Amino acid sequence: MTETFDVIVIGAGPAGVSSALSCRREGLNVLLIDKKKREDIGEKVCGEAISKKTSHRFSEKVNVEPPLENEINANIEVLALRTLLPIDHITLPAVGYMINRHLYGQRLLKDALQSGVKLFSETKALKPIIQKNKVSGVIVRSSKNEEKELLSSMVIDCSGVLAAIRTNLPKDFEPLLDKELTKADYASCYREIIKLDKEHDLKGKIVLQYEEDIPEPGYIWFFADGDRKVNCGTGFIKEEKNLDKGVKSVYFKAMEKYYPKGTYDTIDGRGGCVPIRPPLWNSVAPGLIIAGDAAYHPDPLTAEGHGPALIAGCFAGEIAKEAIVNKRFETKDLWKYNELIFSDFGSKHVRRRILTIALNKLGPKKLEFLLKRKVVKQEDLTSEGILKKRSIFSYLGIALRCFPRYNLLLLMKKAIDISKKTNILCKNYPKSPNNFLEWRDEMEKLYRKI
Ligand SMILES: Cc1cc2nc3c(=O)[nH]c(=O)nc-3n(C[C@H](O)[C@H](O)[C@H](O)COP(=O)(O)OP(=O)(O)OC[C@H]3O[C@@H](n4cnc5c(N)ncnc54)[C@H](O)[C@@H]3O)c2cc1C
Repeated sequence: MTETFDVIVIGAGPAGVSSALSCRREGLNVLLIDKKKREDIGEKVCGEAISKKTSHRFSEKVNVEPPLENEINANIEVLALRTLLPIDHITLPAVGYMINRHLYGQRLLKDALQSGVKLFSETKALKPIIQKNKVSGVIVRSSKNEEKELLSSMVIDCSGVLAAIRTNLPKDFEPLLDKELTKADYASCYREIIKLDKEHDLKGKIVLQYEEDIPEPGYIWFFADGDRKVNCGTGFIKEEKNLDKGVKSVYFKAMEKYYPKGTYDTIDGRGGCVPIRPPLWNSVAPGLIIAGDAAYHPDPLTAEGHGPALIAGCFAGEIAKEAIVNKRFETKDLWKYNELIFSDFGSKHVRRRILTIALNKLGPKKLEFLLKRKVVKQEDLTSEGILKKRSIFSYLGIALRCFPRYNLLLLMKKAIDISKKTNILCKNYPKSPNNFLEWRDEMEKLYRKI
């Protein structure tokens, strides 16, 4: 007999466990599916930094303990941006944790199972089931290699970068939903956890070190993971102009400058992939909500996607509950999910993408010039700072300090203007799908201008 659930959540990463917990807290009957073995759930190649504020906000929303002592490898205080030299030119507050993702993920999974969520591990979602123009379940391959149909009122796709449900929808199903994966929207990464032969000077810091020959977004990261441990890595968008560059060789070349071979032991080294664009402009379709990497939720500047995935999962649970109670599953009935995303981290992530593009266009040398001359100040690089109003005198001062490189000033002005316009657009996210296409066209036009 075909099994039926209120909600089937695909993927038990942060977005999936959060969605499942949130749905369960709303009293729904939830099935969580992951292709991994149960004991491997939560494990992932990652920079492992998570914001304290976001992780605690998530804990309050679904009533679970925030990261526990044994799940935290180190505390973080600041995000430092470095350009030509290993000196912090810019430090932005970034209070958070370096987290053991596996332990934290396993604990959240346990919380979800204790609350009554059902888990099918070692079960791969193959494609959605569409009935009466609505996603009504999934076809899965079980651990015994059997194909099964599982039915539900709602499906939440939290399957990570490959977006197993979204990308396997029929092309003509909900034209407002983007079903493609585009190479330009992802960075291919290589990450290591290293143990140095002496203490490092990165305590409390996550550092983005910009390098001339690392393609967009252009940095190698060093995250302090303990007194001698560092989580480091790089990644970039694979484009025609850099197809010959291997991520691993770019990484090792940059590492040689800061931590030469022989000064550390590698504890773990693996590749991964992270979205590097603003959130999907629309993440719902009849019977379907998309959360986490499957909906491009990471911060495009820092690749922090763990926190946004947890928050998006909470929103997905709230909206799924509403749909099930009202028995209304059309795109317009789930639309509020998009509004929640764009009024929360979505708007900031649009601005962060613009900032990443601008920083990359400048490159480390020009950025160094702008920072040394105080044309760009620390506060200007926060996503809120970019929106602040400036007086005519402040513009004059900036122009004088920028002499004679006014082309850099023009690029900055353009980035600021576009950021302000996208912020207004995000605030005016359409209240229903009716005006969505105009909104999306305007956003994409702006976003491409930079
Ligand atoms: C190199 C690198 C560094 C990063 N650094 C950071 C960082 O420092 N801080 C941060 O916050 N974020 C970081 N991120 C991003 C972060 O890891 C992700 O944003 C986050 O894990 C997204 O959560 P998710 O639940 O959407 O997806 P995932 O964590 O990828 O989980 C998806 C789950 O779905 C399962 N799945 C996939 N397909 C199927 C299928 N067909 N059927 C069943 N199950 C399926 C997978 O097994 C997995 O368990 C980094 C990412 C990378 C690659």
